[in-house]
Amino acid sequence: MKIICIGRNYIDHAKEMGKEVPKKPMFFLKPNSAILPKRNPFFMPGFSNEVHYEVELIIKINKLGKSIATNFANTYYKEIGLGIDFTARDLQQQCKEKGHPWEIAKAFDNSALISEEFLNLKSLKEINFSLKKNGQTVQKGNLKEMVFNIDEIIHHVSKYMTLKIGDIIFTGTPSGVGPVKIGDNLEGFINDKKMFSLNIK
Ligand code: ZN
Repeated sequence: MKIICIGRNYIDHAKEMGKEVPKKPMFFLKPNSAILPKRNPFFMPGFSNEVHYEVELIIKINKLGKSIATNFANTYYKEIGLGIDFTARDLQQQCKEKGHPWEIAKAFDNSALISEEFLNLKSLKEINFSLKKNGQTVQKGNLKEMVFNIDEIIHHVSKYMTLKIGDIIFTGTPSGVGPVKIGDNLEGFINDKKMFSLNIK
């Protein structure tokens, strides 16, 4: 399986990064080796001095497809989960400045937290999500605030690569990203439901 991550999909986050909102969905990949094993803490990697959390709604692809039309895209997923796209912001900045690919900043081991549970989209009227760091809310978003909705993302990505059963799409982060340090705790919520609790070690 592969993990597809959408960049700058919330206006406020693009602004906080000093960037424009893209005209088309912008995406990058994480390998399956980036998945944080279940119930593991996140260990601070030795190669970065500034690892940021980015809480994101995630969907799981449940049907094989390519070149998917936007109006059929909703038949390719049923469930929504929550994840963190950990980012080595210092390395990402260096990669951007040099015009280098940014896998070392985005695709490293344990950089993808995926909630164990996924919720049936039909069971949810509203999809608000949030992240608490040490009990304080640091990020908040709503599915409707995405610049490109899930169906548009699937349409765009599937033009370039086949989507397979089990692939995960990280749909972008709202504003409020920030650093983690050893001893921090991160808790993610969809509406009032706790989707994960993670310790940083
Ligand atoms: Zn992200």
